[in-house]
Amino acid sequence: MREVLRRLNLSAKHLILLDKFLAEKDNEYRRIEEKLERMGEDYIDFCRELYFGGVKTRGNPPLGSRQMILSDIFQYIITSRGYYLAARDANYKRKFVKIVMYLVNQWLIMDCFGPRESSNLRKELMSTLKERIGEDNFFEARDNYHISRFEETLEYDDDLIPKPPNPQPPNSSILDTYDSLFPKIRGGPIEILVYLYLLQRRLGFVVSLLTQQRLISGDRVITPPDILLLRSKGEVIGLEIGRGKEKQSADFSLVTGIPTFSVDLVEKQPFRCDGCGRWIIYCDRVIELYSENGVPENHKHVIYCKDCPYFNEGTCPNIICYTHLTNRYGETRKARYHFRCLEPKKRKEILSNLSENPEILVAYYPLVEGLEKFPEE
Ligand SMILES: [Zn+2]
Ligand SMILES: [Zn+2]
Ligand SMILES: [Zn+2]
Repeated sequence: MREVLRRLNLSAKHLILLDKFLAEKDNEYRRIEEKLERMGEDYIDFCRELYFGGVKTRGNPPLGSRQMILSDIFQYIITSRGYYLAARDANYKRKFVKIVMYLVNQWLIMDCFGPRESSNLRKELMSTLKERIGEDNFFEARDNYHISRFEETLEYDDDLIPKPPNPQPPNSSILDTYDSLFPKIRGGPIEILVYLYLLQRRLGFVVSLLTQQRLISGDRVITPPDILLLRSKGEVIGLEIGRGKEKQSADFSLVTGIPTFSVDLVEKQPFRCDGCGRWIIYCDRVIELYSENGVPENHKHVIYCKDCPYFNEGTCPNIICYTHLTNRYGETRKARYHFRCLEPKKRKEILSNLSENPEILVAYYPLVEGLEKFPEE
């Protein structure tokens, strides 16, 4: 991650240096700059699309959505620049898949200070952001409503995890405020994982619209699906990632005649551990296999950890156990846990029966549900 962001920063720095030099040395260039500045709020609104503190909240001044901006920039890095690595040849594509899987894992971990056990780290992170971004930029226009939501969120000690699994989550304005600090959590990584899957199958040429969520034709604006697949003989198919956007997809299909349907990762990955409340990241072995060999034959979406070279008697940190237990909220239900988060006694019991029940300890491939039988071409 670090080098990715350092280079992004270098690109920004380069453009800033060009701008500074020209504004200083060239009158014509500077005069245009002054015209832009005289446009006032209109110009600032344009600029707010690039960084804007706060989150859109009903009934309050429509602030920009920082989490969408951060997510777009991050997805842009992957699907519009880093992507050229994948386009070079098959070997580079494998490297691309591997790198992006690691970045997705880091993206998931960004949202791992939600559990109360990490509330101190969470507060430290929030305070650091506020201080280092500077209050003027962190709270656009020093908007009072958002400043007080931030303070409330900062003081909150319990789980910042939504329902489910949290039966008593805080007020949604607190959850939203916390979310606004990160590139779109959960939805963002899922979109990238679906994109990776599509790149690895011959279902059509993949057009990412992840950072183009509005399309314009004259005075018309529509919300397109996340991805278009360009197939032979002029066939185009739209894919919307995640559920609940059927209306939006229907509108798009009606206007363009392009059939659109919703897809999601198998079994609603990624999983949040019912024990520690952190996201369960993708196992190194899966990352190796997925990047080397692509989508597994038969579309089998799990590997049994028993057979994994990193199993190490159950000490691999990313083993998933789907079991019936009392979770961190005292609720007894069947859910996914880090194997590492189970009690030693329970772990022993599972390990001793593992050869009869290998399916109890698994790692998931981020495969897409609903496209197994879709004809490749
Ligand atoms: Zn979408
Ligand atoms: Zn856990
Ligand atoms: Zn493993």
